[in-house]
Amino acid sequence: LYLYLVKRRSNKILEAAHATVNEQNLKLQELNATKDKFFSIISHDLKGPLNSLTSFSGLLLHHTDSLSKEEIQMLAKDLDKSVKNLFALLENLLEWSRSQTGNIEFKPEVFDLNAVVEENRALLKAQAQQKKITLNNAGEGAWMVRAHKNSINTVVRNLISNAIKFTGEGGQITTRLRRQNGRVIIAIADNGVGMSPEVMKKLFRIEAKHSTKGTADEKGTGLGLILCREFVEKNGGQIWVESEEGRGSVFSFSVPPEGAF
Ligand code: ADP
Repeated sequence: LYLYLVKRRSNKILEAAHATVNEQNLKLQELNATKDKFFSIISHDLKGPLNSLTSFSGLLLHHTDSLSKEEIQMLAKDLDKSVKNLFALLENLLEWSRSQTGNIEFKPEVFDLNAVVEENRALLKAQAQQKKITLNNAGEGAWMVRAHKNSINTVVRNLISNAIKFTGEGGQITTRLRRQNGRVIIAIADNGVGMSPEVMKKLFRIEAKHSTKGTADEKGTGLGLILCREFVEKNGGQIWVESEEGRGSVFSFSVPPEGAF
């Protein structure tokens, strides 16, 4: 009987070990598929801005004498747009790859979320002014949260620059903070182009990546929101959107408050 019991026990242990290995294999497969998808997106998305950069530099190189001052100015403007687009893409790409390889330690610290909003508002103000968009921050005083500051900063930056991208001339963008169910919620509202329910279903998901051009023809990659979701969830929060086509969108996400563990 003793031998029988020992055998039964070791069989059970073996079964449990098998289950864990299978689970880990599945996780690895999933991770690999995400990585492949991500790289195919990136290589495709890098091509766009690089193609325009090559045609601009070619034009400048071979037709400098025949180009008027206005034409050169127009080319320089487009060049500037392409380079900025490339930078934004690389920034998101680097942060994503760091988070996937475990190189970002999502170590929480206590900081003022409203100060992060203010910093980003100041940084993106010039970009908004180019489209005569007003950037308001309705949050007053300090809003202390407990999260990994850099990644939350990336999310705020991505959401405000998206709001600018998808809002037309003279639009309004407002950032609000509130407390709900023991969490701090930040909402970024715009009165821009909004989106259809079909587009909304595809957001935040790498397998359904979706991207449309901004109101000033700004190109996108469809990676910003995927990164936002990843970072918000790594900080123990959630991200969601409410939107109506032609009326605007509100992107919100939750962050653990100061006293959270
Ligand atoms: P990108 O902006 O580079 O395309 P994102 O992942 O940041 O990538 O956004 C994916 C898509 O979600 C956008 O292309 C756009 O269709 C939609 N979107 C994001 N933010 C907004 C917004 N504030 N208003 C309307 N549509 C938006």
